[in-house]
Amino acid sequence: MMEFDGRKYLAAKEPGQKLVVDAGFTCPHGRCTFCDNAAFHPSYGSSSKSIAQQLDEGIAFHAARGRSSGPYLAYFQSFSNTFAPLERLKEAYGEALAHPAVSGIVIGTRPDCVDAEKLDFIASLGCARMEYGIESCRDETLLRVQRGHDFACAENAVRETARRGIPVCGHFILGLPGETRETILEDVASINALPLDSVKFHQLQILKGTPMAEEFAARPGDFVRWTLDGYIDLLVDILERLRPGIAVSRLAASVPPRFLAVPGWGVRASEFHHLLDQRLTRRKTWQGRLF
Ligand code: SF4
Repeated sequence: MMEFDGRKYLAAKEPGQKLVVDAGFTCPHGRCTFCDNAAFHPSYGSSSKSIAQQLDEGIAFHAARGRSSGPYLAYFQSFSNTFAPLERLKEAYGEALAHPAVSGIVIGTRPDCVDAEKLDFIASLGCARMEYGIESCRDETLLRVQRGHDFACAENAVRETARRGIPVCGHFILGLPGETRETILEDVASINALPLDSVKFHQLQILKGTPMAEEFAARPGDFVRWTLDGYIDLLVDILERLRPGIAVSRLAASVPPRFLAVPGWGVRASEFHHLLDQRLTRRKTWQGRLF
């Protein structure tokens, strides 16, 4: 039986503590219907401050919680962090890398916001990782949530990134409108075919004030709502199908309850992972068993 570091799935090992940075980038097509960037901002990350100041405050934030003394990664998480001319990217990434405690950067972006020139530059840094919001493998879903790109665009961006030796992560949302347990499990084959080093999965959270909250109110039948128990079983089904070499960076999300239009499960991350480990053991299964 394949086991990974005592776990039954390959948990991603971050090479440092991430410090979220908002460099003031935006997104190209307005907003995706599920998105509210404010829900994911730590208190220290604000584009009204310099990148250096955000990093200093982020280090203090984590130190106050006894979390880390480094090394640190500047995490360009908010909005689309390659949606600007190359010179602007050089400036922003350069400011982060000039911070003495920062050893690398993680760039969250959209697949339609990279090109050969930008990827060549990012590869030349030698310490950058990319995280693409792919969200779904289905064009009809991507259209419905107003992503503004199709799955072929994501495939191309991931391949071009991996080809340059840049570590690449894909982010997927489980439960977008029109998708079901069956379609999600079918789509694991498309994820496996991408040259991804790691993946992030999380359940759809319906956030207040978003177009998706309105859509959910109008057509609730289009959405699968996971109970905690049902979601853990879904994750086990996904992990069984997932290529063994893909590291898993995230399995669930929880934004502060004040942002939620539909209440969450109220479960702590440690409890969640314990439940998942228990379920994998009970089902006598592991990542890649059905790959
Ligand atoms: S591209 Fe990302 S940050 Fe921008 S609106 Fe869509 S989900 Fe939000």
